This record gives sequence, C-alpha cells and structure tokens, in this order.
Amino acid sequence: MCEMPNRLTNRMDLSPFMDQINDETVCNRCGECCHLCLQLPDGLIVSIPSLGCRFLGQDGHSGLYSCEIYEERLVHEEARSWCSKGEDSVRQGLYPDHCPYVVSIEGYQGRIRVGRRVVNEILRDLHHGDKPRSVSTDDWGRSKERLGRLKRLVPALTGAGRR
Ligand code: SF4
Ligand code: SF4
Repeated sequence: MCEMPNRLTNRMDLSPFMDQINDETVCNRCGECCHLCLQLPDGLIVSIPSLGCRFLGQDGHSGLYSCEIYEERLVHEEARSWCSKGEDSVRQGLYPDHCPYVVSIEGYQGRIRVGRRVVNEILRDLHHGDKPRSVSTDDWGRSKERLGRLKRLVPALTGAGRR
C-alpha cells in the first residue's frame, strides 16, 4: 500500500512474470507490502514498519498477516485509494525485493527497510502533517507518543554524554 501522490512507475515488460505475479499462493504473509511506505526525493521507497494498513490483521500465534477485506480491497470505498493490485504494485516497487512475486524479476527494485534512526526522522516529518488515511488512529497515536518519548529521552542522553 502507498499513499504517495507522485509514485513513479516503471515500464518494464512484465508479461513473462504475470503467472508469478498473479499466483497468490506464493505470498508468505510477511505483511511488508501492507505497511506504509514513502518515497524519498532520490526515488528510494522506504517502508515504515510501525504503520500498517488499518485493515491488516496479524495472527497472534503464527505472526502471519492477512487482509481483513481482501476480496473487496480494490473496490472498498476507502482502501481502494491506497491498495493496489499485484501488477501495479510491482510497477511501483511496493513489494520488497525478497517478495516471491518479484524475486525473479531481473532489475526490479522495491521498497527497502532502513534503520530505526532514519525511520524516526521520516516519522517526525510525517507527524507534522495529517494522519495517512490507511493508518488507524490508534497506530498513529502510538507512533506519535513514541516519538514524543524519544524526544524527551534524546536530550537527556546528550546532556549525560557531555559531562
Ligand atoms: S511482501 Fe510479498 S510475501 Fe509479503 S505479504 Fe506482500 S505479497 Fe505477500
Ligand atoms: S487493504 Fe488489505 S491488501 Fe490492501 S494494503 Fe490494506 S491490508 Fe493490505
């Protein structure tokens, strides 16, 4: 999923890979593609692991993810604005490189994970704006609260380091 207004799309010929892209049985339910991502100015698409789609469920036992509205996600009055079908997601790089849908597509470049510090920087910017529609109010609030705690913690650590 992605709410980026100006997503780049690649024009590679995907016809040799369409069987693989449409084979839903290969999905291992890691949930990565159903978390918020943002495109940085240099084109890199970065995953925000703490902000999943509000329709994303997780099995408490196995940890596997699943979509609570899977069958209707592309026509759902809200989710259709950020959820996309396989081919579009491939073209926009929304799957990570290790996703079975894309792993054999040469030249494919998908979303990446970056370190916590960079994610926090991105989140700080993000929290200056409105809540992304795909994210639940609870998750958004938790993320804001966590950043607030970090903000209080970091100056304290910096002060301690100076002594
Ligand atoms: S990234 Fe790929 S394997 Fe993971 S949930 Fe999405 S489609 Fe499935
Ligand atoms: S609507 Fe479902 S498939 Fe689409 S991003 Fe959300 S959880 Fe994933």
